Amino acid sequence: MSSLKMINLNKVYPNGFHAVKNLNLEIKDNEFIVFVGPSGCGKSTALRMIAGLEEITEGELLIDGEIMNDVSPKDRDIAMVFQNYALYPHMTNYENMAFGLKLRKMPKDEIDKRVQEAAEILGLRPILKNKPKQLSGGQRQRVALGRAIVRNPKVFLMDEPLSNLDAKLRVQTRAEISKLHHRLKTTFIYVTHDQTEAMTMGTRIVVLKDGKVMQVDSPTNLYEKPENKFVGGFIGSPQMNFIEGKSLEKDGEVGLVYEGISFAIDKERQEALRKMGYSNKEIIIGIRPEHLNVEKTEKSGDTGLVEVTELLGSETYLFIKLKKATLVARVEPQLEIQVGDHVKVGMKAHKVHLFDGETEESIL
Ligand code: ATP
Repeated sequence: MSSLKMINLNKVYPNGFHAVKNLNLEIKDNEFIVFVGPSGCGKSTALRMIAGLEEITEGELLIDGEIMNDVSPKDRDIAMVFQNYALYPHMTNYENMAFGLKLRKMPKDEIDKRVQEAAEILGLRPILKNKPKQLSGGQRQRVALGRAIVRNPKVFLMDEPLSNLDAKLRVQTRAEISKLHHRLKTTFIYVTHDQTEAMTMGTRIVVLKDGKVMQVDSPTNLYEKPENKFVGGFIGSPQMNFIEGKSLEKDGEVGLVYEGISFAIDKERQEALRKMGYSNKEIIIGIRPEHLNVEKTEKSGDTGLVEVTELLGSETYLFIKLKKATLVARVEPQLEIQVGDHVKVGMKAHKVHLFDGETEESIL
């Protein structure tokens, strides 16, 4: 069993920079938690505090109910995998994997058993006698994973472990790490700036911005129910479209208006907006590219202009200038729309996200 609890964790660096602000999180045994956010949001700092590589300024870190703040990294029963692999170049892959266990004075046959087992899981058997410099980036990262596995830790920490790999290998290794998590049934905490990695690997995702948690949720909920504009925009590719509009009540119906163009919303949303006092207010409309309806038409005051088309084979992205905004629509490749075409843009009414114009928090 391994559970982690972070209570009001804060990190203030000696220069006064507040990198992590009041982080509260409970991680259950066997979860795959991903910390994700843009560069500088504090995700590595958070991970390094868990590892014990960075002092905790304020708050408490508990592993299996025990306070870890002052426990040294080697006594925390966690293993960390870094972006740059951190392998010893003069040692063979076998020795690299065995090194930590040797330091712990583990009997030789037990070390061998563990290294062989990890090598089997990771497909490293044929290259155990090689040195890291004879390996590809992907193989090196597997050796680094192997070195973590042999320790049989309570928790695996990974800081952008795939960022040095090329795109294809990254996708492959991503799947391998997910398989490893299923096989080892241990808690994984993984840091990345890449929302696709977060969405495909995490059982729960912690979205950070400027040292603060913006949302903690399952991948599906983050995508379908973002709690604020930041999460709406950060999760999903191409990103959610945002339009600065207004809600307007007219003849008993609440609709959305943007630069004179009206968009209908479903009754349920209308009622909710009215109840919350949003029937005549500045509102940010969020709509995902796949939830825009696009139809070729004659030019008029409320049509958009297709400025760019991106053909990806299975789908096409249209970049549409609609008044001040440029919207991205994901459409079927069969839809014969070209650059220069004028289009009527509609929204799937029940898929519209609405955010408060000032706080940017989700309304609906
Ligand atoms: P990246 O993806 O770029 O690594 P990150 O989200 O992992 O970003 P951190 O490395 O945790 O970010 O850094 C968070 C913030 O803290 C950054 O603005 C960084 O400049 C700052 N920071 C990191 N280390 C120190 C330090 N030793 N002293 C002062 N500020 C620091």
